[in-house]
Amino acid sequence: MSGSSKRTLIRGGLLIDGTGAEPIDDGAVLIENGKIIEVGPTSQIRSSGAEIIEAGGRTIMPGLIDTHIHIASDGNPNPMKRLKDKHAYTAIRSSVHARKLLEAGFTTIRDAGAHGYTNIATRDAINDGLIPGPRLRAPGYGLTSTGGHGDGYYAPHVEIDNPARVDSPDEVRRATRLMLKMGADCIKFVSATGGVMSDGDEPAAPQFTIEEMAAGIHEAKAHGVHTFAHAQGTTGIKNAIKAGINSIEHGFWIDDEAVEMMKTNDVFFVPTLNAVYQIVEFGEEAGIPAYAVRKATEAQEAHLESFDRARKGGVKIAMGTDAGTPFNKQGENAIEMELMHRAGMPAMDAIVATTKTAAECIRFGDVTGTLEVGKAGDVILVDGNPLDQVSMLRNVEKIHLVMKEGEIFANRM
Ligand SMILES: [Zn+2]
Repeated sequence: MSGSSKRTLIRGGLLIDGTGAEPIDDGAVLIENGKIIEVGPTSQIRSSGAEIIEAGGRTIMPGLIDTHIHIASDGNPNPMKRLKDKHAYTAIRSSVHARKLLEAGFTTIRDAGAHGYTNIATRDAINDGLIPGPRLRAPGYGLTSTGGHGDGYYAPHVEIDNPARVDSPDEVRRATRLMLKMGADCIKFVSATGGVMSDGDEPAAPQFTIEEMAAGIHEAKAHGVHTFAHAQGTTGIKNAIKAGINSIEHGFWIDDEAVEMMKTNDVFFVPTLNAVYQIVEFGEEAGIPAYAVRKATEAQEAHLESFDRARKGGVKIAMGTDAGTPFNKQGENAIEMELMHRAGMPAMDAIVATTKTAAECIRFGDVTGTLEVGKAGDVILVDGNPLDQVSMLRNVEKIHLVMKEGEIFANRM
């Protein structure tokens, strides 16, 4: 961007600002030097000196946010196939996915763990302007216990080099410090419990202890970064909360007590309904390992009940897909909004979960997530009204314009 001020006015559209407020029928947003300087009814917004984009009745809304993505992964039915990939190859693939996500309207994401610090490298390349991509939070490796969900995730009996495989509070502290040293801006615990895609463990089984997670969370907090935990079984969920975690990912078995604990401790919930959904939909016939299909099938009903319990109980829900798991594809992330809607969440709430709440969950709440003065010019123009049909956001052809920090990255108008 040049030194002279650059102004863009998007006007004449249904404006959904991401806060959950009533939409404005004929709304506008004025962006200057990458930031929103005015927003409201078109008639009240200045237009002088601005490049004007006529929304033409389309919907103006904040850029979408996915808080749980594996940007290195492509939705292959069997992740075992990725074992031989070099880190450099993984980084290249991540850059391709970054562009895809941005062009689908996702202007901000959080990666949930990758080998070789490739997520950190991808984030830095985006920030340096080397490649197009969303604003990205990156944890480096996800921390795992030996034999836990993140250890040899792709191959249980293969020894792979993993500096984040740790088994005591001191080791967790050291690995957390290592991730921070390498540039992590959040810390992921991949094994508060077992998981679906890991052969040889069960989603209900706790793995990291409270003391182990607490040691890493202490370091993360001291460094000013937030933490999130893959936690599916009830005990592991509660262990992570007791350790001081900021968000619970997946949460298959959230009971009433866990709901209360999450509210009391201001813990977010990232359900990732699509991860389970696609595995059950496609099944073994499509090449997904039998153990994963069994575990996803066993968990799905409880997962939807947990989502309902957490939502009705008032837990803050942030949208996350777990994109990269089987048939959970980069760029098709808005399907999660549809799944949350089908599971009982009103369309406006699904939008807030994918904008405002998602931004807050990954500590970008003061930067993006809503169309408010002072926030980044992260805006999408959508052909239609997602409040009538939230599933339309899945269709990339309907995402007519994608703007990140005032710069247009996709224009299908
Ligand atoms: Zn994940």
